[in-house]
Amino acid sequence: MRYWRFDKHPEEMIDSDTLSLQEAPKPKIGRGEVLLRNLYVSMDATNRLWLGKRKELYIEPLSLGDTMKGFTLSVVEESDNPAFAPGQIVTWLGEWADYSVSNGLDLIPFSAPADVPLADAFGVLNIAGPTAYYGLLEIGQPRPGETVVVTAASGAVGSLTGQIAKLAGCRVVGTAGSDEKCRRLIEEFGFDAAINYKQPDFADKLAAACPHGIDIQFENVGGEILDHCLTLMNNGGRVVICGLISMYNSEQNVPGPYMFHNTIMKRLKIEGFVILDHMQDFPKMQHHLAQWMSEGKLNYRLEVIDGLEHAVDALNSLYTGSNDGKVMIKVGPE
Ligand code: NDP
Repeated sequence: MRYWRFDKHPEEMIDSDTLSLQEAPKPKIGRGEVLLRNLYVSMDATNRLWLGKRKELYIEPLSLGDTMKGFTLSVVEESDNPAFAPGQIVTWLGEWADYSVSNGLDLIPFSAPADVPLADAFGVLNIAGPTAYYGLLEIGQPRPGETVVVTAASGAVGSLTGQIAKLAGCRVVGTAGSDEKCRRLIEEFGFDAAINYKQPDFADKLAAACPHGIDIQFENVGGEILDHCLTLMNNGGRVVICGLISMYNSEQNVPGPYMFHNTIMKRLKIEGFVILDHMQDFPKMQHHLAQWMSEGKLNYRLEVIDGLEHAVDALNSLYTGSNDGKVMIKVGPE
């Protein structure tokens, strides 16, 4: 079987020295253990953080020599654990590998809603959907008529966030890194306005798209874009810090935000969150998300890449912006 081994801390982007694809015998299970055949591994921006040297993380960073971790959809192939039977589908914080062994404690049974393919259900309901749902509805507390700005809006989390904000009756503005992504935001995901942050007049266009200011900033990027948004916040606005992808490839501290004084002037509430802290709410959130999916109220793009050997390139596509929605590696047949 194949697995990705962590060889060297990256200085910036993950490169060919960071991880290497290795061969090993198929693992055997011991007492109480479960053998998993991995079906899909989700590619998440946060995977890069687990390979860094920063101490302040929400999970243990990986050590050199470890198998690369990732959010995984797996099928139980053998079980010595009475809680899991062969054929059962589970999600977990798994591995970039063909097979894995678990003691069962970290496995969560998973099933797709009726009429939704398993890969789609995993892509939308496992991490991206709950992140959008929790960040916007629980932290952002949107009210009808408010203006919500979402950064990295055409991605997995961003596109769902914008659509949930529309369902909550808000005016929704997205930022993205190309005109094509901006077109998609409006035509496929129903945003009211979309701005390409790579254009020199970005700040002016953003201000024009938010004539009544910003009530909720759903931040996925950080840096300069966040600063522009902070200047447009309304009094009592909420800033949901979901992600800061523009900073994850840097092992150094990144200066800013420079417009931080607006947190006082505009009486802002800023809150960051890690969705893994809210697993107990997943069934409720997944229920609502699945309902919206089956009612055709949530559009999404999935980029399923066939072959574990493509995992590093797939993860890096989140950083170059060449990804087309939620990126997942198909490890083996369902
Ligand atoms: P996406 O599908 O949104 O892909 C990442 C996108 O980020 C890229 O397509 C690119 O879009 C944009 N991007 C990358 N680098 C930069 C940069 N330097 N400046 C501006 N934009 C950049 O990924 P996800 O939906 O998986 O993740 C989105 C965010 O959500 C991430 O920050 C992630 O860490 C966060 N997240 C947080 C969770 C939590 O628990 N708090 C859980 C899951 C995700 P473009 O072409 O528009 O630049």
